[in-house]
Amino acid sequence: MAQDHIRVTGAREHNLRGVTVEIPKRRLTVVTGVSGSGKSSLVFDTVAAESQRQLNETFTSFVRNRLPRYGRPDVDSIENLSAAIVVDQRRLSGGARSTVGTITDIHALMRLLWSRAGRPAVGPSNALSFNDPQGMCPGCSGLGTVRGVDLDELLDRRLSLNEGAIRFPTFHVGGWMWRTYADSGLFDNDKPLADYTPEEWHALLHGADATVRLTGQGGTVPTKYEGLLERFTRIWLPKDAASLKGRTREAFERVVTERVCPTCDGARLSPRALSCRLGGRTIAECAAMEAEELAEFLRGLEVSDGAPVVASLLAQVERLVAIGLGYLTLDRPTSTLSGGESQRVRMVRHLGSALTDMTYILDEPSVGLHPADVDRLVDMLRELRDKGNTVVVVEHDPDVIAAADHVVDMGPGAGEDGGEVVHQGDVAGLAASGTLTGRCLGNRLRLGAAPREPKGFAEIRGAVRNNLRGVDADFPHGVLTVVTGVAGSGKSTLVHGFLPGVCPDAVLVDQSPIRASRRSSPATYTGVLDPIRALFAAENGVSASLFSPNSEGACGRCDGLGTIYTDLAFMDPMVSLCEECRGRRFTDEALRYRCRGLAIADVFELSAREAVEVFPEPRVGGVLRRLVDVGLGYLPLGQPLNTLSGGERQRLRLADALDRPDRTYVFDEPTTGLHPSDVAGLLALFDRLVEAGGTVVVIEHNLEVIARADWIVDLGPGPGRHGGRVIFQGTPEELLRVPDAVSATARHLRRAVG
Ligand code: ADP
Ligand code: ADP
Ligand code: ZN
Ligand code: ZN
Repeated sequence: MAQDHIRVTGAREHNLRGVTVEIPKRRLTVVTGVSGSGKSSLVFDTVAAESQRQLNETFTSFVRNRLPRYGRPDVDSIENLSAAIVVDQRRLSGGARSTVGTITDIHALMRLLWSRAGRPAVGPSNALSFNDPQGMCPGCSGLGTVRGVDLDELLDRRLSLNEGAIRFPTFHVGGWMWRTYADSGLFDNDKPLADYTPEEWHALLHGADATVRLTGQGGTVPTKYEGLLERFTRIWLPKDAASLKGRTREAFERVVTERVCPTCDGARLSPRALSCRLGGRTIAECAAMEAEELAEFLRGLEVSDGAPVVASLLAQVERLVAIGLGYLTLDRPTSTLSGGESQRVRMVRHLGSALTDMTYILDEPSVGLHPADVDRLVDMLRELRDKGNTVVVVEHDPDVIAAADHVVDMGPGAGEDGGEVVHQGDVAGLAASGTLTGRCLGNRLRLGAAPREPKGFAEIRGAVRNNLRGVDADFPHGVLTVVTGVAGSGKSTLVHGFLPGVCPDAVLVDQSPIRASRRSSPATYTGVLDPIRALFAAENGVSASLFSPNSEGACGRCDGLGTIYTDLAFMDPMVSLCEECRGRRFTDEALRYRCRGLAIADVFELSAREAVEVFPEPRVGGVLRRLVDVGLGYLPLGQPLNTLSGGERQRLRLADALDRPDRTYVFDEPTTGLHPSDVAGLLALFDRLVEAGGTVVVIEHNLEVIARADWIVDLGPGPGRHGGRVIFQGTPEELLRVPDAVSATARHLRRAVG
């Protein structure tokens, strides 16, 4: 009996108040509760962290000595813990060589099948891989695209070298790179490039047999001359644009061109691999099919050799379809997937694996899913469970909660008002428990009062991209518009791709990481630290810089971070408390000064709500009050931004934006991370933006938000090539009159309003 539960006793990470829970093994457990109540602290920072720590202890001492010590989570004990796998929403990277096919192992199975049953035979299956020298296209090394240099962008021929003819930051006039040309003695540095002789032109681009002598601090250095084009190609062409910043990235994107590889026409494979066909198709043609089409093709395939491979291949492709990703092609680079899509692709990979008796931990897997897709997600979670795994899901979606074998409800509030288990047991018990979640479960939706009148429309006409084929859509000004449709129907493509074209003032308030986030905190991000430091300085007659965590007052050991980060190549960075200042970030000297009874380190520990009380003056309290309004009142002012969840980051940006509300705000699934009881607060904020003259456009699946829209743009009817059309636009009331067969959104809204 005792063996049948993971038993957590006395968990105290972050806001947890000595939490004790039992998570039944080989069952589906949903952990829910308002945002900030402590779900992640329990599931990720306690259960998953301890599993990872125990796993690290199994490494040899050689490896272990190279891993920083994982802090033991603050918990009395965790019994019966099995190895935990966290399936989160971090986007998949891996560059152009990582595709939906490679990451789910579908591509490996396809290669196996084609190598066994394809004709003419191609030998080992590696010869069918675009990631293997034997199989890759020689023209593009298996990337499918080739890069080139746009010389008209790299060089301004009207100018001379001295005038800055080379238009790229690292070749700026006077710099080392520039001098290898200007000091070469090969050119007249005042002659415009347009006047170069063919020989000079050739020497500039491709080189000359010359050694250049550069005068540096240590005397004259002989350097082998390298032509500009050759050098640029060698240094810059292999770079990943995403790894570059600012001006360099702009210049890179201007100068470096990318086009489909003419040798393989984008198929990535060698001519030999492309000659091999099965059922009339090459492996590349099949990889370019949407998963759903591929499944059809495989079902129709008759092979005598390799039937078991077809069966496992089909099973894995069908999982992609079943989880609502049937619209993805197998050759789609994983770097282009959304967070929710990445997470579901990871799930498919794990479902295909033979591991059992693992603990799978999933973070809000319903993100990006229309209510119509959630049923299939639930099936998949059950499949994972029925393979003998323990499945723990942090989730707010009522349909996922309803499917749980066991529910852990955290609360009652957020931050210090939370950190307790308010209910654990089955779903029926939760509904009867009277907790916030229990009460929300049975709620019927109501449509908003009369929709607000638009102040004109922004009109998108003839949008063509991805699965959109000539879409017209109208986005009203001055109201709340919700863009709906099943996953893959084209919502993001339409909103992100075309709305800025017709609403140039549009700002995206998304969940992407905030840059430089380790150093920043809500205090620095919102700018409240500056007036607070000024208050400290005035009260104590010392310099304000003493109270900045990146100045003289900062602890020298941790640079004012309070924690020590150890970066690892292959894992997340490890964090441990700074022993010098014990997490207080400042020198003892700085900590001696007080303002309103607090030391500067105490201010960093205040939650936004507490801080409003201490610093009510408008230039501090104003922005803090907006933090409270967006539901972040529980957030400590000094919490590093890199520990914020996506939803918290989005709300932080929102609080910042509320300062100047008369624009068009675009949100991508703002209810992510929000409990149903938090959604009302979010809707109130949207109302405030609209009332202040703003326009709000949200991509959203949450039916409560849909019901409260002034205007709905519904895309569909299906995903991928089955979607990409506007099937409805108008008010929620009008949507309710659209038949089930036309719009899945209408069907689900009717059910919820019912
Ligand atoms: P939930 O997952 O329910 O939204 P969390 O477990 O993320 O809640 O957060 C619970 C509380 O702990 C919140 O007040 C949050 O701000 C705080 N918290 C979370 N992570 C950290 C951290 N790394 N350092 C300090 N406080 C944290
Ligand atoms: P939604 O936002 O409704 O989930 P998307 O706009 O993301 O839908 O996707 C619509 C279609 O366009 C899908 O078939 C998707 O696979 C495809 N698509 C989206 N982004 C890309 C991309 N970067 N490359 C290729 N296809 C894409
Ligand atoms: Zn090629
Ligand atoms: Zn320190």
